[in-house]
Amino acid sequence: MSAGCSVRCPQRILAFVIWISFVIPHSAFIICAMIRCGIGYDIHRFVEGRKLVLGGVEIPYSRGLEGHSDADVLVHAVADALLGAISAGDIGQHFPDTDKSIRGISSIEILKRVNELLAQKSARVVNIDATLLAEEPKFAPHVEAMRKVIADALGTSDSNISVKATTNERLGPIGRGEGIAAMAVATVEVE
Ligand SMILES: [Zn+2]
Repeated sequence: MSAGCSVRCPQRILAFVIWISFVIPHSAFIICAMIRCGIGYDIHRFVEGRKLVLGGVEIPYSRGLEGHSDADVLVHAVADALLGAISAGDIGQHFPDTDKSIRGISSIEILKRVNELLAQKSARVVNIDATLLAEEPKFAPHVEAMRKVIADALGTSDSNISVKATTNERLGPIGRGEGIAAMAVATVEVE
């Protein structure tokens, strides 16, 4: 054994201890936390005489959307994406339109219940990206409010919730103004 090793070895041991104390907690995080994604899509038809509610926000418009609940197509797509991320089916299974107890229910209430299902699976929202498809009305003035309401229902920051809108270039039923569609992608972290 060289004389130099007796000097270097304690330094190496110290360096190893520092390294392992950093790596082990982070390794545990990498091993335990799992990122999962889900996708959601929904479409509802316009009807006369109903309020238009999107992202939990009432939007002034001449028509509303047909549905068993408040027909919030945006929140339905988000809820389906979250359920997909934890492989827990879809909102049709959890909240069937044959259930009279949820007739006219706010879809934000549905979203809160979906968030409880996430919690039961030790999952939490990382981020959501959603897009509304419609020729009208204009959604831009309401997007920030929608992000806030959805974020509050999920117990997360509105910086984790993206809501966008586009037209369907006058193509198909959406393009003819017969309804509104929405799609969403959700990312969750499972411990
Ligand atoms: Zn729906």
